Amino acid sequence: MRSTMMDYPLVLPSILKRAKEVHPHKEIITKWHDNSIQRLTYGDFYKRTIRLMSALRKAGVKPGDAIATFCLNHSVHLELYFAIPSIRAVLHTINIRLFPEQLTYIINEAKDKFIFVDKSLASSIEKNLSQIHGVQKYIIIDDKENIPLPNLPNSILYEDFLKTGDEVENFEPIDEFEAAGICYTSGTTGNPKGVVYSHRSTYLHSMSICMGDALNIRESETVLPVVPMFHVNSWGIPFAAVMTGCKLVFPGKHLLGAALAELLESEGVTLTAGVPTVWNVLYQHLKKTKYNLKLHTMVVGGSAAPRGLIEGFEKEFGISILHAWGMTETSPVGTVSHLRGFMNEWEDEKRYSYRAKQGVPVPGVEIRAVDDQGKDVPKDGKTPGELLVRGPWIAASYKSGESPESFTSDGWFRTGDVVVLDEFGYMQITDRKKDLIKTRGEWISSVDMENLVMADPDVLEAAVVGRKDPVRDEAPVVFIVPIEGKTLDAKKIHDRLKDHFAHWQLPKLDDIRSVSTIPKTSVGKFDKKILRKQLEE
Ligand code: ADP
Repeated sequence: MRSTMMDYPLVLPSILKRAKEVHPHKEIITKWHDNSIQRLTYGDFYKRTIRLMSALRKAGVKPGDAIATFCLNHSVHLELYFAIPSIRAVLHTINIRLFPEQLTYIINEAKDKFIFVDKSLASSIEKNLSQIHGVQKYIIIDDKENIPLPNLPNSILYEDFLKTGDEVENFEPIDEFEAAGICYTSGTTGNPKGVVYSHRSTYLHSMSICMGDALNIRESETVLPVVPMFHVNSWGIPFAAVMTGCKLVFPGKHLLGAALAELLESEGVTLTAGVPTVWNVLYQHLKKTKYNLKLHTMVVGGSAAPRGLIEGFEKEFGISILHAWGMTETSPVGTVSHLRGFMNEWEDEKRYSYRAKQGVPVPGVEIRAVDDQGKDVPKDGKTPGELLVRGPWIAASYKSGESPESFTSDGWFRTGDVVVLDEFGYMQITDRKKDLIKTRGEWISSVDMENLVMADPDVLEAAVVGRKDPVRDEAPVVFIVPIEGKTLDAKKIHDRLKDHFAHWQLPKLDDIRSVSTIPKTSVGKFDKKILRKQLEE
């Protein structure tokens, strides 16, 4: 029997139109570089976005063209998020912290036609112009940094570009499977790989993360995404926020410690999201300075949220960390660790250990863990396997067909994450395949070791990598940044690890090293590649 339902396409303009119809008076706030606060309504945003659609068309943008952004989180970036896909062009959000080779590689690979760039960031593009091919126009967003305009060819200021468009609604039919956006993986090995999202995948991902059992993004929340709009579309939060009409607060460059805390307080932010390193800095700051925060949820992902941080935020500040897992290839939200109703009755120890897991798949996503032969591993909380994932917002290939081995013949994406699944289906990452440390023929989890070390109150950050060892194959080396004013006590750390690791897995005392910082990747994760290189040298 055929269904009697409408053939209604799942496309991004419907999210935009709902904003105008349902919540035109809700606010979108941006804090610009000079600390000025811009207040737009969703109604203003709608008008500016349809004008931008018209300006893009008049400038010659055609369906399928890639249009790039090189921007921080602000209201103009949101206008671009909707205008570009709404004229059937493809939104390419460039990571502003890429190395020059990767930056020029992805601009050329995506065939970006225009680049919208923040004035304060333009010098990174300017320096690499000779390696960039095919870009026809640069549109400069005045983010109110007090510096001269950059010298980019064929450039125009954003507000002048906007004036070339008409404030007229002109939506054309879009096939929901058409490309809406492209993001590149951060390319820890080899060149970055392009993942092309469709209107349908973005729409469904947005609906899923709004659910209570996912990120619970809804109208009554005030949402401040710290996670950059160039890091897997700020985890889809801007799309979900416009879909539901929550007040949105964009922090621009005000991302750390006091600057962030002040904005959280002044705008009454209730929900925020970002990688653990950001929250670590905020946590230290909140311990010293008191704020009147309405914040109740902090979505933490990108790397493992340390259990100590989850416990600390909840017990000291009443803020709940919602631990989530995902990748560029998964749009990105794949799993979230909410406690089941009955788990709330558990004692603290067990509750926090579950909150620190990466959790269960959000509705719409399926996960499995398999051994080297592709056989499902038992759900016993201890047998490791590679995480496989599938669903309507999971990549089925990379843009130019590279790395086909990442996709199984029966329709699953191989994540390269090593995980255990427990009896309730909760997933816990023990490592990335390439970060596992092999000691005397057995794998040890660098993530487990880091978590234990970071639970020490004198430790700010810790990263564990393997160094070559003639007897043990590899031996773990623990890099520790102590909390300000504290010094490293290697013996204490060693004792802490002794209860959880076999003696042959333990680091030597002089492999527990104090450092002033741990290098970070372009999206703020510990950069283990650099640490390993330092060890080799
Ligand atoms: P890249 O792979 O380029 O670093 P992604 O942002 O797509 O960029 O990173 C995805 C990877 O990040 C995952 O495969 C996983 O290893 C790691 N990751 C993401 N979220 C978590 C989490 N909550 N806990 C542990 N690791 C995570």
